[in-house]
Amino acid sequence: MSIHFIADIIKGIKPCLPAGRPGRLDKIELIMIISVVNQKGGVGKTTTVINLAAALSALGKRILLIDLDPQGNSSSGFGIEDRSKGIYEILSEQISWQDGLRQIKENLFVIPANQNLAGANIELVNLPDRERFLAKVLNNFSTAFDYIFIDNPPSLGLLTVNSLVAADKVLVPVQAEYYALEGLGQLLSTVELIKQNLQPNLGILGAVVTMYDDKLDLAREVWHELYKNFPYKIFRTVIPRDVKLAEAPSFGKNILEYAPKSKSAKAYQRLAREFLDYHNR
Ligand code: ATP
Ligand code: MG
Repeated sequence: MSIHFIADIIKGIKPCLPAGRPGRLDKIELIMIISVVNQKGGVGKTTTVINLAAALSALGKRILLIDLDPQGNSSSGFGIEDRSKGIYEILSEQISWQDGLRQIKENLFVIPANQNLAGANIELVNLPDRERFLAKVLNNFSTAFDYIFIDNPPSLGLLTVNSLVAADKVLVPVQAEYYALEGLGQLLSTVELIKQNLQPNLGILGAVVTMYDDKLDLAREVWHELYKNFPYKIFRTVIPRDVKLAEAPSFGKNILEYAPKSKSAKAYQRLAREFLDYHNR
């Protein structure tokens, strides 16, 4: 999806509409909606959102993960088999948000996604306020959580635009590989467009490097390039390449359950602590 498409979406909309989240002011310090975005596919968005959510909930934070990807990988990664009631059904007002909510653990909730969501790009496109559907849904219940994470599809289409408009912050997983920085400029321009026209409070939380192999010079080069070219926080915690992370979802488990002593479980726990330290500075 090109930047022109997003410019098209934005065209005609009055700039700087208030973000408007009634009822949030009393807990503004705590609640944060974080959209995990990178239009590149397979960079570790879903793996990061699942395991960071699990690690934060284990630290006592009340977490909601919204799966906004029709592939439904973060839903299946949490072992949710019946995905017939999910975010699409909530957005299209077929069910209440409570009916779409699944409790995974004491502090961990997921709203799943199914293939119906793939049609939303087309269905929403001619509706008024098409980029605010998710934000409006979140208005109803965001105060119930400390952090809400949104897992996005690998594109900058209308679903991702909805996610950015609903979010306070953007977290960008970056895979330590040769073309890692390709598309990052487009992503940052998109965020800037949304910030200027639709969600003035949107900010970039930072980038997290995934699938890092410290034996490879290439991974180190990507890391340095990111430092030179990404003018926002880069989490010091890097996520190592670890086959256990790829295995865990097929058991419907996060890495803390599947391989709690693995290097990647420790990395996601460290990332959760760094995330909280950074946020609470
Ligand atoms: P998509 O754009 O399709 O949504 P994504 O950005 O969400 O993809 P993931 O699904 O998290 O990416 O990861 C892509 C693949 O790489 C998956 O098979 C996942 O299990 C694997 N993977 C992710 N992170 C790691 C890692 N650190 N080490 C090894 N494998 C990983
Ligand atoms: Mg994914």
